[in-house]
Amino acid sequence: MFEKKLFPGGIHPREGENGKAVNGLNPIRTLDPPPRVIIPLQMHIGAPAKAVVAPGDHVLIGQKIGEAGGFVSASVHASVSGTVHAVQDALLPNGTMAPAVIIDNDYRESWVDLHPTDHPENLSAQELQQIVREAGIVGLGGATFPTAVKLSPSGGKKIEKIVLNGAECEPFLTADHRLMLEKAADIIDGVRLMMLALDVDEALIGIEENKQDAIEIMGAAAREADGVKVVGLPVRYPQGGEKQLVYALTRRQVPNGGLPLDVGVVVCNVGTVYAIDQAIRKGRPLIERITTVGGLVNNPGNFLVRIGTPIDHLIDACGGLQSHVRQFIYGGPMMGMAIARFDIPVTKGCSGLVALGEEAMEPKESPCIKCGACREACPMKLFPSRIDAFCRHDRFEDAEKIGVMNCIECGCCSFVCPAKRSLTQSMRTAKNAIQRKRRRVATRKAQEEAAQKAREAAAQQAAEARNIGTEAAAGKEAQG
Ligand code: SF4
Ligand code: SF4
Repeated sequence: MFEKKLFPGGIHPREGENGKAVNGLNPIRTLDPPPRVIIPLQMHIGAPAKAVVAPGDHVLIGQKIGEAGGFVSASVHASVSGTVHAVQDALLPNGTMAPAVIIDNDYRESWVDLHPTDHPENLSAQELQQIVREAGIVGLGGATFPTAVKLSPSGGKKIEKIVLNGAECEPFLTADHRLMLEKAADIIDGVRLMMLALDVDEALIGIEENKQDAIEIMGAAAREADGVKVVGLPVRYPQGGEKQLVYALTRRQVPNGGLPLDVGVVVCNVGTVYAIDQAIRKGRPLIERITTVGGLVNNPGNFLVRIGTPIDHLIDACGGLQSHVRQFIYGGPMMGMAIARFDIPVTKGCSGLVALGEEAMEPKESPCIKCGACREACPMKLFPSRIDAFCRHDRFEDAEKIGVMNCIECGCCSFVCPAKRSLTQSMRTAKNAIQRKRRRVATRKAQEEAAQKAREAAAQQAAEARNIGTEAAAGKEAQG
């Protein structure tokens, strides 16, 4: 029997609280594609993709419309067939404008030619990685890190274990739960393909114990898969956090500022592994995902949604919003972003959309009573109230010294604070300020290095010119 493991800190939000839970027992519904999709060229960590289509082009489903812009990047593909209306800036969930390919659906549902692989076991690790790269797969739990990069560990690092996140990235979302119930065999097949691509013998799938049906179904599917083990985990947020999951399943501690790779582990979400399976077995690029729509909508549930679908299309499919909605969250209730417009598209990282009522409105802050609850709840063992105090006086260097950059923005500290202090927002502000400063310092350093090189090159040229002059004069003297 596998010993149960847990990580430090964390919280246990009650399911169903504030009407946010979604009934995880309803089957996934396939959403009809919208008349127009807006597909951002940056839906991932790393360099944006570069558009390879132009207005007026006809595209097919699965056709590449954006080429990965570098090693850490991901290609993007058309999710409907139709005509490219425009390649222009569009509003993203984080409130910024960024280039996107806008396609008018011709409703023919015409696909590009797909290239399924019948015997993936005959492919090399590099060939499997290349399929994943071409399919534009990124972490679907919300992190959106390009998956092909995870499958190609650099620096000679050896991967020993795969850790699969079946814990659901946020409370109240059930997209991964439903996927495990409906696609267990495909997910286990995807795990085996990952094991081939990474040449590892062991994969651990962590599922929280409030999903007993998923534990059973995934366990049954994994029975014949050598080295694949399903592990029930205590229900505690952020159990799906990368570092927390690695610790809970392996007792390996990812170092501050490091990656699971540093302790020989690759972490993937179950949705991502399903996408890997579809890409390799069926040749399908990533053009759709499962998104939970919950809270105060008339008919909540999990939907299979084409990437680029405007949110209002999804809300219509849920029968609209209830009248007392006060806030709409893109993502989950703990880490998601409040949005004010519904023409924003569903991107690759959109695991959930949650409509909230009065309880979501910013509560009135009161002074810190030094109760220590935030410190106890922090899964990264930080001191949130102290960091918050530094941030409120713009003392970001002091915040950095006590580890704010290790904050995973899980929201646990704000959740437990009786004084309703906006602690997580302070962490974000500090991290952004420190990152901006680091970028400024790096730019200045690069400029100084370039200037130094230019000075050295000029000095070198001047010295060479002097030498030539001296030699010429010496030559003349010798001739004379
Ligand atoms: S948001 Fe950051 S500081 Fe707050 S509990 Fe999570 S990791 Fe700790
Ligand atoms: S939980 Fe809130 S009140 Fe308690 S120590 Fe932290 S910031 Fe202060």
